[in-house]
Amino acid sequence: MTGLRIALPKGRLYEPSVALFSAAGAAPAGDAGRRLLIPSADPAIEFLVVKPADVPVYVESGAADLGVTGTDVLRETGADVLEPLELGFGVCRLVVASPLDGPYPSLPGGVTARVATKYPRLTRAHFNARGRPVDIINVGGSVEVAPLLSLSHWIVDLVDTGNTLKANGLVEREPILLVGAVLVANRATQKLKLDRYLDLMRRLEPSARVPGGASATVTLSKHAR
Ligand code: AMP
Repeated sequence: MTGLRIALPKGRLYEPSVALFSAAGAAPAGDAGRRLLIPSADPAIEFLVVKPADVPVYVESGAADLGVTGTDVLRETGADVLEPLELGFGVCRLVVASPLDGPYPSLPGGVTARVATKYPRLTRAHFNARGRPVDIINVGGSVEVAPLLSLSHWIVDLVDTGNTLKANGLVEREPILLVGAVLVANRATQKLKLDRYLDLMRRLEPSARVPGGASATVTLSKHAR
């Protein structure tokens, strides 16, 4: 494709992504539904709708030129892509949390803590860097119930308002990563389709908004400079 193929994640970041590209004159033509490839109002842009964890993979490989992803997913996969724009939505944080009345940061008797998470790589890096070995339990969802069921002692998960932690008797212990949606780009695309790439960057920069109508929040990220 001589135009740009852009990978969008299903789920929480999908609607704000559609709003972002619509404001930039490239509204997806129709709903994702069962279709994976969706044309847009701009004939030079088409969208590919995939699982959030797959966006960095598609962009790194060049199957998509660009993508929208959270920095949690991006750092967990370690994909080698450019990060030209921070998009100002999907903001939350990745934290270590544990039961309110349970021991932290160590367990009695020198027991090695079990930590349940969807982010094994970031979790291991966090505890290794602090010289505190843990056993990682890799789960796909509902991480907050793991300590209640004695599957794990602690968890590493995304927190926004903190309501989910509280409802499960957990408290935030340590921050790991500030998370937000970013636009990622394939390294070759930026060179081979430079004109189209720069044109889209110019259209996205002023048009991104926090859902709810706040002022422009797109900023050039340090990785793009
Ligand atoms: P909260 O109760 O507001 O702290 O939200 C926590 C729940 O929402 C957890 O299950 C998180 O995995 C999920 N969550 C919060 N923010 C995000 C985000 N930006 N992207 C994906 N999941 C999120």
